[in-house]
Amino acid sequence: IKKIGVLTSGGDAPGMNAAVRGVVRAALSEGLEVYGVYDGYQGLHQNRIEKLTRSSVSDVINKGGTFLGSARFPEFKDEKVRAQAIENLKIHGIDALVVIGGDGSYMGAKKLTEMGYPCIGLPGTIDNDVAGTDYTIGYLTALNTVIDAIDRLRDTSSSHQRISIVEVMGRHCGDLTLMSAIAGGCEYIITPETGLNKEELLAKIKEGIYKGKKHAIIALTELMTDANELAKYIEDETGRETRATVLGHIQRGGQPTAFDRILASRMGAYSVELLMEGHGGRCVGIQNEKMVHHDIIDAIENMKRPVRKDLYALADKLF
Ligand code: ATP
Repeated sequence: IKKIGVLTSGGDAPGMNAAVRGVVRAALSEGLEVYGVYDGYQGLHQNRIEKLTRSSVSDVINKGGTFLGSARFPEFKDEKVRAQAIENLKIHGIDALVVIGGDGSYMGAKKLTEMGYPCIGLPGTIDNDVAGTDYTIGYLTALNTVIDAIDRLRDTSSSHQRISIVEVMGRHCGDLTLMSAIAGGCEYIITPETGLNKEELLAKIKEGIYKGKKHAIIALTELMTDANELAKYIEDETGRETRATVLGHIQRGGQPTAFDRILASRMGAYSVELLMEGHGGRCVGIQNEKMVHHDIIDAIENMKRPVRKDLYALADKLF
């Protein structure tokens, strides 16, 4: 292997820049050439590929977002589009590709691998919804952002005896909601893992009011229900002012925390090691503090992310 490519894809996450930097610097130190692909699979298809040098990744380790850009590019599901992408990589003489993104991006990497082009996937998403890793790059930074928002909501909710619903990202994974609820001391957690039972929630809120609670904060994972409608339902039923705060893209931005920078650096360098050992079609993870790699197809199709029953139980105990 002499030349490798790197791209970021799907929703951006803090630490993606540090991961690209990790790939670039580790590859250069091994005497490889590195090429950056702009705007994910879209740029790959459009042949927007440039050689990266050591200084291309200067001053990015502390920056949120991704300087390579990211894109949603559903056209990549079309085999002809992917064949063109592989053609473009070959024009530059690039032997293998590192894809930094979530499970959707892994699907793209899996398909390229199946077409004979070796890819390594790095988990870059705030959702922590990728199998084969305890943490994804960006997740713990987003967690701090969510907690900061919850702390602020708590101040004002207490002052006004208000009920607050805070909608947290995560798509179909409740990790970010669960952890922020524990760290933010939220009273109620609604995630894809718990499901939403409105009557039960209402009964719990009423119990809290009866006990003299000054506020209630409900942590809710996105896509489960309309947060504003749920707020109206609670307000109508309890007579307490209830407001929904949808945190949205705030959660995606900001400087990566130390953990994410280190995780991204390790994973970036590890992906280069794997490529040099001749691996392809693998995805990188961290498990029990060690760098690991799994078959990307296996990770997507067979590996399940564990539901943290112990932490749901803890949350229950502490509220
Ligand atoms: P996040 O979960 O943080 O949003 P993601 O990587 O899961 O990140 P997606 O939008 O699902 O985000 O996927 C990113 C891109 O990967 C898509 O826009 C598309 O280009 C490519 N992709 C997704 N699914 C497939 C597939 N089945 N085949 C080929 N390419 C795919």
